Order: sequence, then C-alpha cells, then structure tokens
Amino acid sequence: MTRESTVAIGLLLPDVLGTYGDSGNAQVLRKRLQWRGIEAEVHPVRLGEPVPSWFDLYLLGGGEDDAQVLAADHLRGQRGLLGAVSAGAVVFGVCAGLQVLGTSFRGLDGVRHDGLGLLDATTEPGPRRAVGEVVATAVAEPVCGPLTGFENHLGRTRLGQSADPLGRIVRGTGNGDGHEGAVTGKVVATYLHGPVLARNPGLADLVLGWLVGHPLPPLEVTEVDHLRLERLSTRSRRS
Ligand code: GLN
Repeated sequence: MTRESTVAIGLLLPDVLGTYGDSGNAQVLRKRLQWRGIEAEVHPVRLGEPVPSWFDLYLLGGGEDDAQVLAADHLRGQRGLLGAVSAGAVVFGVCAGLQVLGTSFRGLDGVRHDGLGLLDATTEPGPRRAVGEVVATAVAEPVCGPLTGFENHLGRTRLGQSADPLGRIVRGTGNGDGHEGAVTGKVVATYLHGPVLARNPGLADLVLGWLVGHPLPPLEVTEVDHLRLERLSTRSRRS
C-alpha cells in the first residue's frame, strides 16, 4: 500500500471504459475497506494519461468495441501498469476490460487487436449478442459463492492453459463455452456488470483479500444482503 497505508485504487480510463456503471466497483472496494478501518482513495486515469505504477489495484470497466480499441492502444505501452502487475498488484476487469487484459480480441470490424497479455485469453465475435442476467457458480479458489450480474457483449472468450475460469455458467453466456471470466494470479476478470462487486460482495472481498495479503472475514451489510437476495431470486424466475 502506498502513502502511509492508504490503499490506492486506480480506475483506468473511465472516460472510455465507463459505459456500464462499472466505475461503481471502485466505490464498492473503497467502502468495504473503509468499513474495516482501512483508508482507500480512488484515482481515475483518463485516456492519454500515463498509468502510475504505485496503485495497489487497477480496475478496467466495459465499453463499446471502438472504445475498447482506444483503451487497448493506450494501455499496451504503459510500463507503470505492466510493472505493477509483475510486482504483485491486483487487477480487476469487466467485459471489455476482460478482453483487453487478454492476449488478443477481434470485434465486428474483423481486425485482430493485441491485448495486454495479462490473461491467457483470446476473444472473437460470437454468433449473436449475449444480453441478460447471468448466474455462475464460482470455481476459482477460494470459492466466493454464486456470482450474479448482467451481460451485454458480442465477444466469446477462450481461455488458454495459464488462465483459469472464475466460474461455471448456470444461466447466461459468459465466455461462451460454459465458463465465466478468467483468473491468473491476482489478475481477475469477468463478463458481469452490475456493478458486479456490489452484487457479489464475496468476489469483492476475494479481491480485497489479495490486496491486503490475507482473507477478509465477511461483513454484515443489510442493504447488500437484500440486494443480493433480490438478484438471486430474480434469476430463478423465468424471464
Ligand atoms: N465490446 C465488447 C463486446 O461486445 C465488450 C462489451 C462490454 O464491455 N459490455 O464483446
């Protein structure tokens, strides 16, 4: 942690990867740290600005195909980010963020773009857009309960040998092969919006546990529990 043990959360490119409210994940992480007496600051980094190496955690949200190409073009050369990840920083990506963290992605324009190579994952366009509620069983260790969120993406992602799925799909599309998301070390990504960390406090605490270096005991937050119950019951109804 930097600056007298205030956790530094880097919110990468909210101006281009901010379409789906994923910036809310930064607020969720900050609040869950504060509830445990740990101070945290959120630092947005906009397109064209250098990415500092001193963040403890880097967040990437979702976005449209063109926006995600801009994001990948900017982030690919950012030594601050790549150095921080090699030194053990945590990275959390959502949807376009997942695709950008992978080795390559291709959109409807048919052009193959290099990703950052932080996840062994390649993305190609699928037969149709995947839109709707998703439920997945978490399979990455330590397991953090059922995952819920909504998805809106065309890309289908195949994981290579050095990435593990975050979850197994119960409902929805996710990566497109029955898996949802990807994990390698402390780099984790998902197709779930929501913001996903508001809907899945166990996943938020998994990420925070990596950050502080030990597993965190659960928090009892009535509003969060109600939201989660409501989301999990909604998905069991047919829609
Ligand atoms: N543009 C990407 C796709 O459609 C990602 C979309 C998103 O971030 N929701 O696959």
